Amino acid sequence: MGYGALGTGALRYGLFHGQRLSLSRVDGFRPSLLRIVAKLSMMSNPDGTLSGHRMQPKQGSDWVPFGGRFGSKVDSDQGKIEGRRFGLEILDMRITRARALGTCFGVRDAIDAALSPEISIDLTIVGQLVHNPQTVQRLHDAGVKMVSSSDDEITTRNVMITAHGAPASLKKQLSDQGHIVYDATCPLVLRVHQAVRRLVKEGWHPVVIGQREHVEVKGIVGDLVDFTVIGDLDDLHLLEGRERIGVVCQTTYRIRQAKEILLQIGQRFPDIAIEFIDTVCKPTKDRQNAVDELSEQVDVMIVVGGTNSSNTHKLLNVCREKEVPAYHVENDEQLEPGWFVGVEHVGITAGTSTPHDVIDQIHARLVQISRQQ
Ligand code: SF4
Repeated sequence: MGYGALGTGALRYGLFHGQRLSLSRVDGFRPSLLRIVAKLSMMSNPDGTLSGHRMQPKQGSDWVPFGGRFGSKVDSDQGKIEGRRFGLEILDMRITRARALGTCFGVRDAIDAALSPEISIDLTIVGQLVHNPQTVQRLHDAGVKMVSSSDDEITTRNVMITAHGAPASLKKQLSDQGHIVYDATCPLVLRVHQAVRRLVKEGWHPVVIGQREHVEVKGIVGDLVDFTVIGDLDDLHLLEGRERIGVVCQTTYRIRQAKEILLQIGQRFPDIAIEFIDTVCKPTKDRQNAVDELSEQVDVMIVVGGTNSSNTHKLLNVCREKEVPAYHVENDEQLEPGWFVGVEHVGITAGTSTPHDVIDQIHARLVQISRQQ
């Protein structure tokens, strides 16, 4: 909610006295213009409350102008703001969600499949479906079993491969053991498997830029005889003696970092032939670009996601590179009011495995903290 349509400038401070909005600070707009707009958009109701219609803010921005210490009501679904004539106040912490954040379609589809009643009743997921504690709990509650690898004992008839994918040999092994294999591999991860197959067929030495121990990377290289995983610039020596390399990325890698690695490979091994296929997925790029933009506008960023979520850590790294204070939390209870003292604008971002209801809870808690400041 908020008066975002007032433009990119934000109404940050102010007090509401009766029906007159007095502005103590306005960014980019003449106070007189704002007063007119505010008056036009507010209506006095017969019961003594005031109501106004939200104008859609940019980038999901959520100003917190009308606080509820004395009974005002905010209905953000309807875009309506209501509050009592007296005691209404304008709070001073603006909250903006990154324009892309939270669960991607690949993770969402995998969760939906795992929770579908036909299979969840007798299902084991091989590996962590999502790196998010709340979702893992939901799966537990639905009776879904989880094992970290196929070496663990599996007692159910149904097994599921996660959105991160797995080598074809593992799927065959599970099938040979008599399980019904549900493959929830994200299509964008399958695209990486296909790209690697093509590169190998064409005679390139396959190179994956990513985390060696990540389940997605293990799935990509699991059936290969000869391959190289480059985690960072310290691993470049592993390419010594190679003549033709075909390079792909883990889908959640930072594309900027991957390009830097490619540049360094080219400089260190000028004679090496490189075929690069950009396999960082679009949802990851969207989230990284969005946090990149937003972190330039805010005083503090809240990064929501599992502590073991690789892509959430990358979002955190973007914030740190931008030198904006950033806090990584898994849930709203971890938000500490002390982080927001004197903060005018807080941003929220979340990794691709963070459910949107967790983001909503974080957002609601920030509104509450703003009111308590
Ligand atoms: S992060 Fe990308 S590749 Fe991974 S599940 Fe989501 S959309 Fe698919």
